[in-house]
Amino acid sequence: MTETQLDIAKIRKDFPILTRKVNGNPLVYFDNAATSQTPRQVIDTIVEYYSRYNANIHRGVHALAQEATEAYEEGRKKIQQFFNAAHTHEIIFTSGTTHSINLVANGFTSLLKKGDEILVSAMEHHSNIVPWQMLCERTGSTLKVIPMDTDGVLKMDDYKKLLSRRTKLVVCNHVSNALGTINPIEEIIPLAHAVGAAVLVDGAQSSPHLKVDVQKLDVDFYTASAHKLCGPTGIGMLYGKQDWLKKLPPYQGGGEMIAEVTFEKTTYADLPYKFEAGTPNICGGIAFGAAIDYLNSIGLEVIDAYEHELLAYATEKLSRIEGMQFYGTATRKTAVISFNIKGIHPYDVGTLLDKMGIAVRTGHHCAQPVMDFFQIPGTIRASFSFYNTKEEVDRFVEALVKARQMLT
Ligand SMILES: *Cc1c(COP(=O)(O)O)cnc(C)c1O
Repeated sequence: MTETQLDIAKIRKDFPILTRKVNGNPLVYFDNAATSQTPRQVIDTIVEYYSRYNANIHRGVHALAQEATEAYEEGRKKIQQFFNAAHTHEIIFTSGTTHSINLVANGFTSLLKKGDEILVSAMEHHSNIVPWQMLCERTGSTLKVIPMDTDGVLKMDDYKKLLSRRTKLVVCNHVSNALGTINPIEEIIPLAHAVGAAVLVDGAQSSPHLKVDVQKLDVDFYTASAHKLCGPTGIGMLYGKQDWLKKLPPYQGGGEMIAEVTFEKTTYADLPYKFEAGTPNICGGIAFGAAIDYLNSIGLEVIDAYEHELLAYATEKLSRIEGMQFYGTATRKTAVISFNIKGIHPYDVGTLLDKMGIAVRTGHHCAQPVMDFFQIPGTIRASFSFYNTKEEVDRFVEALVKARQMLT
């Protein structure tokens, strides 16, 4: 597949922010793993909502409330289809992946006991570590780590050895935000199920790049954040198998999530509303749907192929820079390049790149255990999206060469 399949010039016109200048230079945005940029189609959806039918949902009989409710539930349906969930009520709107994971971790409080074990991969984002540590504190269960090798690949033999009847949960990201590794969840999930454990997959980094089929994967819980797939911040989703979602208690109490309330007893609403207390991010849910429409209009396969072209191109160019050290060299990875240049602090490189209009992330990327593993304070991370170009990669490489000369 070649670049010609994507009309990059046309796509770039959809993203108003890409015409911006930063410190006098045209912006090169390579921080897509932190948050993606928003196309005009999604921005228009947000403007239209607040201009034409802003109303609270599910309760009102008036026209605006009905229009808003319909659009919000349409958003849920788009998400269901995007991840191929069996039912719309298996899609819970959350504020993002962090909220989704906390919802599940909280729900397991009454299901775990002392001696139970939760397995977590060595390359998790803090939001897929800390809620499980808190759950372990509440229940007396133990957190165990599935180790990785120096390429940033999980050691599957060690994983198999860690699995036992004590294992109640296995939690893992589909794609590592710090390294770009695509984890073999299609192997991880059935192995966990064989010992009776449930599996939560953090899909924050995979959902913008890979086609995910939650039924085919047979995953119990899957998460996504809209802001990483061209949608707005503050909205995301939790997919949960119907049986699990019925089993878990509500996360928060309030309006929307009830069937009936008296001072003696409250009964809860059916799925998905049981987990959606309070007025939700209505506009966000609608815009999440618009973002999915946008990605579908290009096609995830085309996006994936083009991003891999950028990854190969950039990796080859970067490897010619003296002192280059890559972290995360798995054969299966997304377009994320984590690296350091020998003798230079990543923060200094990031600051100089910013002066040249180039946005990358530096630091631990909310994955301190990954940095500890490689015994480094942090990395420079360039993460590409389908609206990036090879010319931008060239500018990035030139800027890095310049930064290196200035700092050594
Ligand atoms: C971004 C990210 C998260 C956190 O997502 P939020 O949108 O901040 O809740 C979790 N895990 C991974 C792998 C991520 O990339």
